[in-house]
Amino acid sequence: MSKIIASAAIRAANKIVAEAETMLEKAIKEKGADLKFEFTDTGYFMPMFFAITGIEVRTLGDMRKEIEHAKSLLTSEPIEKKYKPYLGEALDAGMATLLAQEIIMAVKYVNGLEPVEDKELGLTYNGFITDSILRDLGIQLVDGTMPGYVCIIGAAQDEDRAVKLARELQQKNILTFLCGNVKGNSMTKQLMKKGVELGWPTRLVPLGPDTSHAIYALNWAARAPLTFGGIKGGDYKKVLKYTKDRVFAFAMVLGELDDLKWATGAGAINMGFPALCDTDVPVVHPRGVTIYEEVEKELDQDKLVETAIMQRGLKIITQKVDIPVAFGPAFEGERIRKEDAFLEWGGGKTAAFELCVMRDLEKVQDGKITVIGEENKEKIEKGGQIPLGIIVEVAGRKMEKDFEPVVERKFHDFINEAQGVWQMGQRDIIWGRISKTAQSEGFRLHHLGTLLTTLTKSSYPAIIDKVQVTIYLDEKDILKHQEEAKKIFTERNERVSNMTDESVDIFYSCTLCQSFAPTHVCVISPERLGLCGAYNWLDTKASYQIDPTGPNQPILKGECYDDVRGKWRGVDEFIVKASAGKVENFSAYSIMDNPMTSCGCFECILAVVPEANGIMIVHRGFNGMTPTGMKFSTMAGTVGGGLQTPGFMGVGRYFVISKKFLLADGGLKRIVWMTKDLKNSFKEQLTKRAEEEGVPDLLDKIADEDVCTESDKLVEHLQKVKHPALEMPSIL
Ligand code: SF4
Ligand code: ZN
Repeated sequence: MSKIIASAAIRAANKIVAEAETMLEKAIKEKGADLKFEFTDTGYFMPMFFAITGIEVRTLGDMRKEIEHAKSLLTSEPIEKKYKPYLGEALDAGMATLLAQEIIMAVKYVNGLEPVEDKELGLTYNGFITDSILRDLGIQLVDGTMPGYVCIIGAAQDEDRAVKLARELQQKNILTFLCGNVKGNSMTKQLMKKGVELGWPTRLVPLGPDTSHAIYALNWAARAPLTFGGIKGGDYKKVLKYTKDRVFAFAMVLGELDDLKWATGAGAINMGFPALCDTDVPVVHPRGVTIYEEVEKELDQDKLVETAIMQRGLKIITQKVDIPVAFGPAFEGERIRKEDAFLEWGGGKTAAFELCVMRDLEKVQDGKITVIGEENKEKIEKGGQIPLGIIVEVAGRKMEKDFEPVVERKFHDFINEAQGVWQMGQRDIIWGRISKTAQSEGFRLHHLGTLLTTLTKSSYPAIIDKVQVTIYLDEKDILKHQEEAKKIFTERNERVSNMTDESVDIFYSCTLCQSFAPTHVCVISPERLGLCGAYNWLDTKASYQIDPTGPNQPILKGECYDDVRGKWRGVDEFIVKASAGKVENFSAYSIMDNPMTSCGCFECILAVVPEANGIMIVHRGFNGMTPTGMKFSTMAGTVGGGLQTPGFMGVGRYFVISKKFLLADGGLKRIVWMTKDLKNSFKEQLTKRAEEEGVPDLLDKIADEDVCTESDKLVEHLQKVKHPALEMPSIL
């Protein structure tokens, strides 16, 4: 790093550390050193500080340790130049800057000043990023649908350029954080003025108006090694190596740089995140060698994204679809409000359904799109609510009937990826909209067919050779085909729900999460789905056919030597290999005896509540307290990282209604507490399972957050309602 930049960074670091200290001392004076503080929904205290030192900050007073650490990095003779795995003196200054920024944000939270609300813009910035979001995005990050994330600091040259840049990042599904400003102007403001929708669903997340708000993106990235990598806070070498090798983040600094931007950038570089500037920054060492690949400039605005992708080495999977609107996974989360809708179908207002059926090869004409119906011609031209039926016929030598639902489930993703087109639900409960903007850009109903034919074929090249789509617009046709479709849906339900682990010889592995949690393996059987909830046995079976060398491999289950705990010789052999010897065996049906490992993206956590002789279930996204005395985020910290933790286990939510659910530990009757949302999300199936277990009113006996969140109150409640768990043998 050139002398000038290094001194700028060191100057800024000294200044901001001093500023943080003053703010902290003032807050301590006003509120007391014992004031408890934690950022929203995190199990990692002050995450940046915790990741590199392992120190647990719980109060304002504890934050002094973080200040002291930052100061120690800035003394002329630091104990050790620890956080500069690459080059240069400015880098310890970078880490000091990040720690100071973390404290400043925490103090602002204490004072009610974060997240920043901008009344003029009509926007509340995101502020601190929760642990849940990392888990929510987990799979997308590991399977490559989300190739990386960028933190944009500053403002584009003008509003149009800002929009263009944002759209380009969205199309590539790069998660974009926005912060900082250039003389009061910022990319956030530019996008807001142009009416671009900001927020998590569109992958454009405004963190805050200052450069220092970049800390939220960085202390979020610093949690990935702890959440997924099984790395302990304080193991800074491993933490920094992990973020460099596995977290595909980078920064884009738009507009002029000041000292603080250099210092923050130096902090990011410590974590292995390069920066791209759009101004003429000095990136070449005075001696003539390139300083390092970490800082790069690109003066051509049109090439910013391309250059950044090369610089960080991102693998981008792009897809060409012949439709008149933009397209990409980032548009998946976009909503279309009622006022903005041009056409609307389903949603209980009109008849609508979608169906995927397999046909013989000669019956399908590849790429054919047919739109049938006259009744609603006028509405289709002028806008309004219409009925809609979509039948996608697929054919392929390796296609199987069992794959129909797997393919069909992807339809809503395919449709949603078009900008200005939205659809939710599946089967005969779909609800879709085409926006006025998409309509004016030329998107018509037959383009739904284009999306479905193109994407179905490109997503499943190994099993599908031909696709044709028929779209029905007349109600009588739709009702007729819907009846037939319903029969097919019922058959499918029965086929899957009748499948048992005993009825097959082969289970499937999933090692997708190993890119984050290197020793984690999910073993997926008909009665136990993957813990992320995204893959069941049929999905993995299809996925293996589609990609025989991919992350889902068949496991010949072999001899069953314990049918209550769920143990098979073949499975044991497989996991020893797949976990690099870290896991010797596990029980598919137990939380106590060698439970399955957890990566980090589990939908729910099961935990034993010893006082209640039962288990509780909390879902990701629930921020409240639970009877274990821990929140989801704290528990998640102990379960993740590819470890076996008896008494705790991450699971997909549908495992709860499986007949094999904790079979060895007493099954469904062990559930003593579960979140209300979870209860409601599959009430019917849960009630049915409870009846089968001989306790039809079990659901009413299970406590939730409205009943209690403490273990003693829980026991009281269980005694009052005579919960069966109290009568069962000890779970321990
Ligand atoms: Fe990760 Fe398991 Fe889901 Fe596969 S099934 S993506 S390994 S959590
Ligand atoms: Zn995972």
